[in-house]
Formats: sequence, C-alpha cells, structure tokens
Amino acid sequence: MLKEIEEEDSKINSFIVLDKEGIAQKNKAKGGRLSNYKLGVKSNISVDGLPITAASKTLETHIGSYDAFVVEKIKKEGGTIVGLTNMDEFACGSSGETSFYGATNNPAARGRIPGGSSSGSAAAVAAGLVDLSIGSDTGGSIRNPASHCGVVGFKPSYGLVSRYGLLDLAMSLDQIGPIARDVKSVALLLDVLAGYDIKEETSLDLEKKYYDYSGKLDTSLRDVRLGYAKEFDLMIQDKGIRKIIHKSLDKLSSAGAQIVDVELPNLKIALPTYYLNVYVEFFSATRKYDGRRYGFKIEDVCGPEVLRRIQLGSYISQKEYSGRYYRKALKARSVLRRELMSALDDVELLVGPTVPKLPHRLGTKIDDPMVMYAYDIFTVLANLAGIPAGTVPAGRVDSIPTGLQVMGKPLEDQKVLNVMAGFEQC
Ligand code: GLN
Repeated sequence: MLKEIEEEDSKINSFIVLDKEGIAQKNKAKGGRLSNYKLGVKSNISVDGLPITAASKTLETHIGSYDAFVVEKIKKEGGTIVGLTNMDEFACGSSGETSFYGATNNPAARGRIPGGSSSGSAAAVAAGLVDLSIGSDTGGSIRNPASHCGVVGFKPSYGLVSRYGLLDLAMSLDQIGPIARDVKSVALLLDVLAGYDIKEETSLDLEKKYYDYSGKLDTSLRDVRLGYAKEFDLMIQDKGIRKIIHKSLDKLSSAGAQIVDVELPNLKIALPTYYLNVYVEFFSATRKYDGRRYGFKIEDVCGPEVLRRIQLGSYISQKEYSGRYYRKALKARSVLRRELMSALDDVELLVGPTVPKLPHRLGTKIDDPMVMYAYDIFTVLANLAGIPAGTVPAGRVDSIPTGLQVMGKPLEDQKVLNVMAGFEQC
C-alpha cells in the first residue's frame, strides 16, 4: 500500500514522511471505528517515533517522543496512520509553498497551489492516497486547502479538540480538525478527535452529546435561518467564486433554508487583527527553538515568512509598543467577536465563501505578503471568535474547486456539520 502511495505522491508531494517501518502501528487497536481507514497526520502533530518537522529545517532532525492526544485517539480506534503530511513551514502560510520539503501540487487543479497551511493533508485526501487526514487551523489552514482541493474540512469550536502534542503557531487560535471527501467522514473523525484532555488547559469537559456528530447528522435544511453578509460580496475578488456562492445560496433556499441578510461592517479589520495577534503569539512560541534543545536555531535556518513573523512579533512585543499595537489588536479581536456573535444572534448559522480568490499557479512570484494574507479574509473570523466553521465543495470555476463556508455559534459544531451535509446533497 505504501509503495502505491509513494508512487502516486511523487507527482503531488503531499507527504514528508511515509511510515515504512510501521512505527505508528505500535499501540494501534485491532478493531475500532477507524479500523478501515488510512490517515495522514500534519507534520506539526506529534506521533511517537516519527519526525515532527513542521516542514522546517529547524526541526529536521527532531523525532516525536510521544503521541499527541488526537493521535492516541486515532490509534485507539484502529486507524492506520500512513505518514506525515506536507505543510507550510510552522503552519505559516496559505499556499503550501513555504515548506522546506518543497511545495505540494493540487491534485484537483494540477499546476496550482493546494492552499495551506495543511496543504498535504488536503491534497492527500483529494488524490485518494488516504481516506482521512488531520490538519491544524489557526486562521484557515484546514478550510483554505480543503476549498482549493475540492474536499471537506472542518475547524471545531475552540477547546473541543485537545491541542496536546500540536506545535503552536498561535495557541489562542489553533485548533486541530478533520479533512475528508464527504461530511459524514469528517463527522466520524471529529467523533474520535473530540474529547476532554486533562493535560491541556483549554480543553473543554463537555456532556456526551458533544462527542457524537456522525450519529446525529441531520441533512434537513427546512426552515434553517442562514445569514449572509453583504460585505462578503465586496471582498470576494473572483467573479466566478461570487457566482458559485450565490448559486449555493439559491440551492440552500430551494432546499427550504431561509437566507437572511446580516452585517459584518468591520470585516475589513479582520486581517490586520489576526496577523498582529499571530505575530506576537508566534514570536513567543518560537523562543524555545534556540538551537539548544531541538535541531537548529530558528532564525538561522527558517524561510522568509517565518522570519518576518518572528521579527515583527519581537518588535511589537516590546514594552514601549504594547499599547500601540498588541493591546489594540486584542481590542479589535473583541470587536470582531462581538460583531460575529450579534450577526449570529439573528440567525442560526452564517454561510459564505471560504476563499476570496482561486489558487495561484505554483511558482508565481508573490513579493507582497499582503497578497498572500488576502486568502485568509473569510477564514480568520472563526478563529478570532473561537467558533466552529467548515467548508464543503460548492462548485468549480474553470475546473478549479471552491468551497462554501458555514460558521456557527460556539459549540454548535453539530449544526454546522448538518448544514454542510444538507448542502452536499443539494
Ligand atoms: N494563512 C494563515 C497564516 O498564515 C493561517 C495559517 C493557519 O491556519 N495555520 O497565518
């Protein structure tokens, strides 16, 4: 099986490591809900005995010394982890091109980026190399590549899935979540990943009903109130995507949903708010990569995007600037959170685009980081507010896939998955 994957992957580069020695098969249960599934794990999640590189030269020689909470759960359900997937270096990016191990090709639109940062996790699923994969999503890294690769991706509510064993990008925003080819499989993997973890301080201890999504999947869209913000239209850069999103709204309303206008007047400050928060948290998270304990000193070997974030994070973390940048960014985050919550007050869920533009061709030179950051405009909202959000294929523009995003209230992950599953059948 691994030989076949290896051969297919030579054209895609979705894996950094294929587990040829079967190291991840250790402690795997015989039966279980995932016993018929092959899985890929993003390279920033620790699997005991396998390299955990975060696609960076910094950690080139680093081997995971324990199983992340989610990996432990996958093994307990008999899932076969075949390897570790490619990604943007330290999950900083939206294209998969910043990996030390080379870019991944989009199996659904060859020659284009698969999106990022969970580039390999989405591409491996889209290419059929694995059935399921896990990614991490700080500002869209599960949903963005899932949208570009024509698969389903889901970022759970903050705290539903333990981050124990995940290398932080920005820990107040990071969540681990599932990617698959249909909503039912995403829900099944979420059933396995979700759960209280005493070792992780933001992990939530919830009632049983929060841990059975696939069993409760309800595809009926009748009378579900869905909000669409007019600001989405202004920010979509590609006409084809706008058309597909409006067609999707029509399909949802034909299936019985009510589409309601809502407002997000501060959507335009979402990106600067997100990036200022990320710079500061990422700078602090990277101080341990000083070359003493793990591999190399990060500043000596990392790529330009990681370096930019460290330098800007260090600059704005200085005491004399805290009021000017970071405190403002925290305030802006509260403003956006409140705005989203009030939009969600009126309706049950929000629907809209996942990405504003189509994936660019591999190798396109993009000098301005803002052009790259622009991919994240619709996805960062859910992370800033800690709410659940997923993407489901909505159609193709010139044969390139794009997704519909569904966002819900905190811990209403079930409702988000229901509408995604309902839309999948439209
Ligand atoms: N593209 C965003 C960033 O570069 C999101 C990354 C992520 O979700 N890990 O920060």
